[in-house]
Amino acid sequence: MGLTEIKSRIAVAETAAGRPQGTVTLIAVSKVQPLERVIATLEQGQRIFGENYVQEAAGKWPDLRSRFPGTAVHMIGPLQTNKARLAFDLFDAIHTLDRPSLADKLSRLAQAQGRCPMLFVQVNTGAEPQKAGILPDDADAFIADCRAKDLPVAGLMCIPPEDTDSTPHFVHLAEIATRNGLSQLSMGMSSDFEAAIARGATHVRVGSAIFGARSYA
Ligand SMILES: *Cc1c(COP(=O)(O)O)cnc(C)c1O
Repeated sequence: MGLTEIKSRIAVAETAAGRPQGTVTLIAVSKVQPLERVIATLEQGQRIFGENYVQEAAGKWPDLRSRFPGTAVHMIGPLQTNKARLAFDLFDAIHTLDRPSLADKLSRLAQAQGRCPMLFVQVNTGAEPQKAGILPDDADAFIADCRAKDLPVAGLMCIPPEDTDSTPHFVHLAEIATRNGLSQLSMGMSSDFEAAIARGATHVRVGSAIFGARSYA
């Protein structure tokens, strides 16, 4: 596949969903990918990337950003509280706000600096014990709690369970967003981004379908 094909599939999915073209933001998930593949994608014009590991992102993006102005990097992996400050300074968006201790930390950083990355609350729509994210039943209260701390929550994010139909999870996430007045939905990966767009995704996170398989050496 590759960037060009994914962009045209996104355009087709937008049209099929009756949505204007360009309403879905493509996040190219570059975690663990060889640097030359990431640079090739930057050279093709892609400017929004997703990373899962603070350390890896800190090692690669300051330099790439100065070479490719206007590049934004989004944190899409679990965020440890002790890395929150580094993440706050490094990323344009954090998709994995999932617990009160992290909300506290981000809120203190936002107050001190007078700015904040775009924030998504991660919801564990499958209620999977091993997976990060606030449980669906706790989402409304958590979002209210973030707002009470003056955190500018923009939307919600989910990672549906593997080997199941993602659509009910996308529908559920969209419902939680609507009833909480949130407009942004980060959902859909290589295998299901078209289904996510059909259910209102504003941000799709696509890795292997753009860059090829990741090899965790
Ligand atoms: C790795 C990752 C992706 C991209 O997955 P692909 O299947 O390679 O598209 C998307 N979202 C999150 C949270 C990820 O960790």
